Amino acid sequence: MKAIVWQGTNKVGVETVPDPTLLLPTDAIVRITSTAICGSDLHLLDGFIPSMEKGDILGHEFMGEVVEVGREVTKLKVGDRVVVPFNISCGVCDHCVRGHYSACDNSNPNHRMAEALYGGTSGGGIYGYSHMYGGYAGGQAQYVRVPFADVSGFRIESDLKDEQVLFLTDIFPTGYQAALQCDIVPGRDVVAVFGAGPVGQFAIRSAYLLGAAHVIAIDRFPERLAMAEAAGAQAINYEQEDVLVALREATGGRGPDHVIDAVGMEAHGHGPGAAMDRAQQKMRLTFDRITALRWAILSCAKGGTVSLPGVYGGLVDKMPMGAAFAKGLTFRMGQTHTHKHVYPLLSRIEAGQIDPSFVITHRASLDQAPDLYKTFRDKHDGCIKVVLNPWA
Ligand code: NAD
Ligand code: ZN
Repeated sequence: MKAIVWQGTNKVGVETVPDPTLLLPTDAIVRITSTAICGSDLHLLDGFIPSMEKGDILGHEFMGEVVEVGREVTKLKVGDRVVVPFNISCGVCDHCVRGHYSACDNSNPNHRMAEALYGGTSGGGIYGYSHMYGGYAGGQAQYVRVPFADVSGFRIESDLKDEQVLFLTDIFPTGYQAALQCDIVPGRDVVAVFGAGPVGQFAIRSAYLLGAAHVIAIDRFPERLAMAEAAGAQAINYEQEDVLVALREATGGRGPDHVIDAVGMEAHGHGPGAAMDRAQQKMRLTFDRITALRWAILSCAKGGTVSLPGVYGGLVDKMPMGAAFAKGLTFRMGQTHTHKHVYPLLSRIEAGQIDPSFVITHRASLDQAPDLYKTFRDKHDGCIKVVLNPWA
């Protein structure tokens, strides 16, 4: 089959690789009909996630049709159309039972590797996301092996198009969980969202679905800010305005009640503390580019929540802990527990509350994917979200 593989930092390619096979009786094989490139894939492209090996198949946002099931798979059958969360979860360990699907105890035999390399993983496996996350082949390919298929294959029975349900695998639940973590008081709270990428877009719309009175989006790309405005948000371009001043002004001096950082460790710009960081940065995994996180902490109102769907790893230096402590902020973060959000969010799509396909700007074949990885990374050509058809 054809697949997108990691070939080293800044290098992905299309290769012909063996088709996946059932390895365990609880596995299924899915023929992929749609798959997407995620901002998280950029951390792999940029070489920030250790333990990638040349030839690893990328991709963790995919859906398709079940073509084979192991003998212990009882709920899914051949022919079912499924979306598959990016997290691999057994469904029966203590964490899964509590709904902490990304912390699954049984899906990542390598999670200890991550402690030495990276300061830890959430615990569970992830498709196409390095060996410290389990070394699973990803879904930017024509077929994929889905472990714990009964737990992870979410059947789509309505006639919604792939593009309307594909993002249930990651970015819609991720934006939604980020907003949910803010405990928004409907009709009252103001939520600021740093980063108007795909995750930020879903965080903005989720904040409104959860009743936010006002949402403010911060980025520097006009087309991303325009997409945020189309959802009703106020836009701040941090290259044109002083973010902290603009956020204070937009909230009567108080600051947003909650702040979402949908940027993560590759934040752009030079926020407070950056000059000092640059002088001190010696270790590869000490991130000085945490501008968005610092802005989030410094702007948030007293007693508010700083919710971090943006990915952080390694060591993060010069956190304004004084401000966080003085304001009594709550921090909530981590990999999304995708499984628990899939069906509730599918219901919202079916009810017409949101059509997730709004975020797609580019549609392409696997052969075009290596170029589109760069287009998406560099935010060229108005690129916000790329969907790939593995059979085109
Ligand atoms: P993306 O790269 O398309 O979007 C990031 C956006 O942040 C860009 O529009 C960029 O211009 C903006 N940005 C950069 N620096 C900024 C700053 N200082 N202030 C404000 N905006 C800034 O990526 P994405 O697909 O939207 O993903 C965003 C983050 O969410 C990534 O870190 C990704 O890994 C993470 N993510 C996490 C989970 C999870 O389970 N927690 C799941 C999916 C994605
Ligand atoms: Zn993703």
